[in-house]
Amino acid sequence: MDDQNRPFSRSESNIVHSPVSIKSWLLRVPSVDEARPGQCPVCAAASRPVGGPLGLWGHGLHERQLRGPQEPLGSPQTVVLRVRRYQCQRCMAIVTVMPQGVVPRRYYAAPTIALALVLFSLRRLPTAEVRHHVCPWRVVGDTAQDSWSTLLRWCRAAKKGALLVPGFPDVRPCPADFTLRQVAERVAAALISLAPPGSSELSPEFRAFVGGGLMQRA
Ligand SMILES: [Zn+2]
Repeated sequence: MDDQNRPFSRSESNIVHSPVSIKSWLLRVPSVDEARPGQCPVCAAASRPVGGPLGLWGHGLHERQLRGPQEPLGSPQTVVLRVRRYQCQRCMAIVTVMPQGVVPRRYYAAPTIALALVLFSLRRLPTAEVRHHVCPWRVVGDTAQDSWSTLLRWCRAAKKGALLVPGFPDVRPCPADFTLRQVAERVAAALISLAPPGSSELSPEFRAFVGGGLMQRA
């Protein structure tokens, strides 16, 4: 979870996105029973087999940071999100359940990443200005004043189809000659397309933020 450009790891097959939004989850963490997935994402064992013992046992909460605004026009902040863990009693995998929109191994969730990509591509903002909108840290080193390396890392990861979650629809590796802004525009469009049709009157920033919040691994 360090925002580096690692390829998707095996552990990402252990991730399940709950239909609960980040906002609702932050207000109240679903109980062990509420968040328990229907089956193990690794071996497909049923979690509540009829007449049998539970297949996925609660394995506690795990704290992780989420950075960025909680609303499209909000100030960036850092919050602690407590995700639920389970252990599969058949394959013994540790399964993590998190709200939809949370990106495994990244400090920023998809709504914030989507907002940043819109500001960078459609609005043509310099990376340092994008940073101002989405990064909660105000004190930056001299080099970070000129560019924001996290945003550029996201674009490079997206170019390889490795920014969000495995199987996220519509985000394919980009042609080698795509600029980072073109890559950003493509991923932003994919996230905007997740926003409900009724939001089409709203700004791309708003639709990207909302669409990002609905991102789930396939
Ligand atoms: Zn299993």
